[in-house]
Parts: sequence; structure tokens; C-alpha cells
Amino acid sequence: MDSENYDVIIIGSGMGGLGSGLTLQNHNPKLKTLILEQHSIPGGYVNGFRRKGYYFDSGAEGLVFCGDGQLFKLALDELGVKQEFILIDPVETLYFPDKKIVMYGDEKKYQSELIKHFPDNKDGIIRFFQVVKSIMDEFHSVVKGKFEPSFKELLRIVFTCPNMRKNATKSFDNLLNEYITNNQLRDVLAIYSLWLGVLPSKIRAIQAAVVFFSPYYYGHYYPKGGMLAFAKNMVNAYSKQGGELRYRTKVKKIIIENGKATGVELENGTELRAKWIVSNSDLSKTALELVGKEHLPSEYIEFISKMEKSITGFAVFLGLNTHLKDTPSHIAYNLKTEKYLERVAGGRYDPEEVLIRIPDKIDPSLRNDKGSSVILLTVAPYDFEKNWGSGKDGKRTAKYKEIKEKYSQQLIQLAEEVIPDLSKHIVVKETATPLTFESYTLNTEGSWYGFKKGYKKPKQQTPIKHLLLAGGNVKGAGVPTCFFSGIKAGQIILKKLKKK
Ligand SMILES: Cc1cc2nc3c(=O)[nH]c(=O)nc-3n(C[C@H](O)[C@H](O)[C@H](O)COP(=O)(O)OP(=O)(O)OC[C@H]3O[C@@H](n4cnc5c(N)ncnc54)[C@H](O)[C@@H]3O)c2cc1C
Repeated sequence: MDSENYDVIIIGSGMGGLGSGLTLQNHNPKLKTLILEQHSIPGGYVNGFRRKGYYFDSGAEGLVFCGDGQLFKLALDELGVKQEFILIDPVETLYFPDKKIVMYGDEKKYQSELIKHFPDNKDGIIRFFQVVKSIMDEFHSVVKGKFEPSFKELLRIVFTCPNMRKNATKSFDNLLNEYITNNQLRDVLAIYSLWLGVLPSKIRAIQAAVVFFSPYYYGHYYPKGGMLAFAKNMVNAYSKQGGELRYRTKVKKIIIENGKATGVELENGTELRAKWIVSNSDLSKTALELVGKEHLPSEYIEFISKMEKSITGFAVFLGLNTHLKDTPSHIAYNLKTEKYLERVAGGRYDPEEVLIRIPDKIDPSLRNDKGSSVILLTVAPYDFEKNWGSGKDGKRTAKYKEIKEKYSQQLIQLAEEVIPDLSKHIVVKETATPLTFESYTLNTEGSWYGFKKGYKKPKQQTPIKHLLLAGGNVKGAGVPTCFFSGIKAGQIILKKLKKK
């Protein structure tokens, strides 16, 4: 049937999928593109849900490069996505049993705050931030208006950027060791290591400088209306430009003919044909289930099977019968970055620390008259208690429910150190285990960021002709990163189509 033939079919409406679809339709509105999404809403991990009037973000909760004239905002504007952003400042407020540290969204103010709390490390703090700033300035002076350096720019970095060159072989841990002696201060400066689930010793110093510290130099932003509204605004722009999106439509197979992707088969057996396929689905699933081993070179299968999945997490979503006053929107309680990561790496989950998010504190339009929504977040291993006590094929057994309840209570108790009497005000409670993250996005092991850091990333072009990848699997963590990988996939296709 002619109507079932497309120029491009995109599997998944995560950031990679939406970035691809928007790029294709925006640059050539005559193209017939289709996004197939297994869930009933768009966005993958850029998402949210409502329960009894309470709004919760279910994944990402702060974005970089969204200020006027900044990279992500410029790309969204160019692609017709209408989205306002609210500055999150303070970026985070850290509550410890003995002190409260405010991570201001201004590097100078943040430095002064750190010096106030760690006077013994004053010189180290000043010098540490000087190094971070010099690396960041060098990076942005070469990679102007783009997200990642080209090969040519990498060479320029090597030859013209002394600070990047000097720190090129160091880990973030090495950099911290050079300037910082206080362990609590190390944990504070390495907070984004916790987010990524990767110890500072496993991250390069220059990468940490550019990525982890950008919120203090370039701002940290929240999309007005919440993450779900943000994803929906992307879909609106995509649809307005002629793109088609179908929800509750799971792709079962990618059709391969003579080594080339020519279409997809849906769960209900329907076949749809396309000249190009972009997969925003998990790479292990794309390769091993949607394509099938028989179509792929053994080295590719081996390459994928060796890569471990990134961290996942455990979260609790609470609706309260009261509005929280004088509470910041982004809170970390009892941050112990390195200890926590060591525990999780050992497959354990017994949190002593918790991240707290209160969406209506940053965006009043999300306010529910009945009370505040509170999100408690932690990173967690997938295989804890052999996949959280679940049964065969992830069955939610009584043990699974018991474990879920036990740890949701533990997180609530921890949060009470910041929000006294929290437990007395709960009227709505939802819990997400790593298996929940897995079932909503189909990301293997509920992985939040694709593969674990440290592995060579797969190329966007797969060994199958006309099958490209987009999203966390190819580029790693982060909303803008995944969106730009989608833009890149779209650009590759546009270029190839132009040549014909
Ligand atoms: C709790 C949490 C907090 C985070 N915080 C931040 C943050 O503050 N800032 C930040 O920048 N990043 C954050 N991230 C990371 C960021 O959200 C992700 O890196 C990014 O959104 C992933 O995008 P993706 O393109 O890989 O797609 P994904 O989000 O993985 O989405 C893939 C989509 O494909 C669909 N799909 C998969 N298989 C199929 C199939 N067979 N058929 C049809 N559809 C299919 C899924 O349903 C899903 O919608 C966070 C992530 C989590 C989970």
C-alpha cells in the first residue's frame, strides 16, 4: 500500500528520535517521516506523569545550554520548537547533617560559598576553578556553536590549547587530588559523577571540566511546563512540519533485504516500508532483537555484548496535602559521592543519601492546589537482590513489592531530614525501580544513559545499510547530547538523499 511507504521510519520518540524527525521535516517538509513509539506519550526519559493532579518528572530534571544564544536553545529554535526555559538557581542545595551548601548558578558566588564552608581549602578551590575555567574556555573557543569537536577541531585542541593538553591524560580524580584535600568538598565537586554513576577516577579531567561545571558558567535550566510538556512541544513542531507519530506502536523487527534496512514489522504483524530507518531504541535490542544476529558481522555482536549498561535508579514520587514553603527545587541530602558509587558498583543498595526535586518550586505553573509534588531520586544497581526480587521475566512478585516498599520508606525517612514530617503529608505515592525504567523505555536493565562510560561508542551508521542509530547508545548521557545525535542522523540522511 502506497500510504505505508515512508522516506524515513524512526523507532522511538526519545531525544534521539525526535531530534532526527525534526531535522528531516524541518529541512525538507516534503519528506514522509514516521516516528513509532511503543509508549502512549513521547520523550523517553524526557517525560513526566500526573497522579490525582500532582505532576512528576519521571526522568531528566535539569538541562544545560538552554539559555538565549546557547547551543541547545538555538537548535530548538531553528527546528521550530517553541519552548521557554526557567533558570534553576541555585543549581542544587546540599543539606548535610552539619551544614547547608548552596551551589549557586554563578561560578564566583559558588566559589565563595565553598570557601566559606571549607576555608582550609581556599587556595585549592580558587586554583581548581581557574583550571576548570581555562579548560572550558579553550574548549568553547575551538568548538564554537557545536556540541562536539570534529577531528580537525580535536587536532586544533591538541596544538592550540595548553590547559587541555596539560590535563589531557588526567582523570577527574587526579585533578581533584591536585587541589582539594577535604573529602566532603571532593564529594561536592564530584556531584555529577554521582548522577552519571561513574567514579571520578573513571572520568577524564577535561570532560568533567567541560560537562560537570557548565551549569555554574552557562546556567542550568528547566523547561516551562515540565519535561513532558517539553517533549510534547517537540512533537507539535514535528507534526506541524508534516511528520507523523504513532503511539502505542511497538516495532518488533527491522526488515533487512540484501544487507539493507527496508522497513519495520510491528507487533501486530503490520509491515511498513521506508528508504531509511533510524533506531532510537536500545542498541542491544536494536541489534540482537530488531535486526537479528544473523544479519550482523560477528565482530559487531561481540563489540555490543562486551559493553556494560550504564547506571539505573530507584525513585519515589509523592503528592502532599500541603505546600512546601522555603524549600529549594533541587536538593541533595547527605551527599557522599564516592562512598555511594562504591556501594552501587558492588551491587549494593542501602542509600544514606537522596536527591529531592520539587517541580512546582521551579515552575509555579505546575502547582497543584492540594499540595506539592516531591520526587526522591537515587542511582541504583539493576541486579540488586537479583533484579529487585522480581520473578521470571521481571514478574512483579510479593518480594519485589516488599523490597520496593522497604526502600521507598527508607528514602522518605532520609528526605525527612530536609522536609520534617514529610511522611505525615503523603496522599499519593508511586515508586519506580530499575525494572520500571526498563519497562517504560525498553532500555535494557533500565539503563539511564546507554552504555557505561569508558567503552568505545558505536558509530551512528550500523553495519546494515540505511540503518542509523540515535540517542544515548551512540553518544552517552544527557538530553542535549541525545538530541544532537538525532540531528546528526537526520543530517546524514538528508545528505544521502540529496546526492540521489
Ligand atoms: C532519572 C533520570 C534523570 C536524568 N536527569 C537528566 C538531567 O537532569 N539532564 C540531562 O541532560 N539528562 C538527564 N538524564 C538522561 C537523559 O534523560 C537521557 O540521556 C536522554 O533523555 C535519553 O534519550 P535517548 O535519545 O537515548 O532516548 P530514550 O529516552 O532512551 O527513549 C527511547 C524511546 O524509544 C522508545 N522505544 C524503544 N524501543 C522501541 C520499539 N521497539 N518500538 C517503539 N518504540 C521504542 C521508548 O519507548 C522511548 O520512548 C536523566 C535520565 C534519567 C532516567
